[in-house]
Amino acid sequence: MTTSTDRLKTFRKMVLTEPVEAVLVSGPSNVRYLSGFTGSYGYVFMTRKWACLLTDGRYETQAAQEVGHMAVRVESRPLWEAVGDLGREKGVRVLGFEPAHTGYELYQSLRKAGFRLRPLHRKVEELRQLKSDHEMRAIRRAVRIAEESFLAVQGLIRPGTSERDLAAALECEIRKRGSDRLPFEAIVATGRRSSLPHARPTSRKLKAGDLLVVDWGAEYNGYFSDMTRSFILGGAAGEKKKVYDIVLEAQRAAVRVVLPGISLKAVDKAARDVIEGYGYGLFFNHGTGHGVGLDVHEMPRVSRMGKGPVEEGMVFTVEPGIYIPDMGGVRIEDMIHVTREGARPLTRLPVEPYVGGS
Ligand code: ZN
Ligand code: ZN
Repeated sequence: MTTSTDRLKTFRKMVLTEPVEAVLVSGPSNVRYLSGFTGSYGYVFMTRKWACLLTDGRYETQAAQEVGHMAVRVESRPLWEAVGDLGREKGVRVLGFEPAHTGYELYQSLRKAGFRLRPLHRKVEELRQLKSDHEMRAIRRAVRIAEESFLAVQGLIRPGTSERDLAAALECEIRKRGSDRLPFEAIVATGRRSSLPHARPTSRKLKAGDLLVVDWGAEYNGYFSDMTRSFILGGAAGEKKKVYDIVLEAQRAAVRVVLPGISLKAVDKAARDVIEGYGYGLFFNHGTGHGVGLDVHEMPRVSRMGKGPVEEGMVFTVEPGIYIPDMGGVRIEDMIHVTREGARPLTRLPVEPYVGGS
């Protein structure tokens, strides 16, 4: 049995407990997960006994190649218009939909078609949290591409290189090593700009004594990786090194508590407690981590808002940071795979505070 067949079966079982006669899946990564279809425009329509992928003429050949376990319907009109007819054909009145992935046009047209609509919140996303061996192989490869790419450009991390040049070189290596897409544009931020957690690279040059944050990832076979390393250029001591050590301690503390059954909130708390203990709590203004898979930010959320327990098979980042506006920021981000024994690190690039000593 293929992976997509298993997934569809599991999803159907999950959805059968809901008071719906059919489900429309419209989130692109969810469609890909259930159908295997990698095109950018498609829906999955699933009843209790039948399922199909809806797409348009551009993807006719591709869909036929990629989708084997459900029907494929190629439409020449907008897909949202086709769903109503499909519902009538299959005798569906109560339809579950994905509120997070349903635009206004689709919603209006489903209403006009006369469906009784029931929102199903992040059901496929819930399934996607637990990774299969097949998915793990792709994720490990995406991590390896990211790490090897970084090692290839590491020599550029020295005073005089611009943020933009380093980011461009890194992205180029990632693509050369087999990523069809980037999960996000690489973040290379130095000096004060490193205190912006999601800074964009500029022409600013790396300077001895500055902090540098590099956050990047790669893709393989649809799956992403995501990691961050921070550096103190040329080896300044003082508060920068102190902050660096605190972030590293917080990161290690959070990785250490990961175990199936403990709450996601507890993982966040382990990192936050360390940072707060040193009096830097106000400067850690984001969650500790997030799931990574077909999307670079997916469930679970490892934050104060995290819901439920850590489960065996999850993949998420652990990435606390401290950002001080006038000084700069430090973030250290690793990806881990949850096993029965706890966190197995996926990223293995060493954490080295000092680089580019002049
Ligand atoms: Zn991340
Ligand atoms: Zn990241």
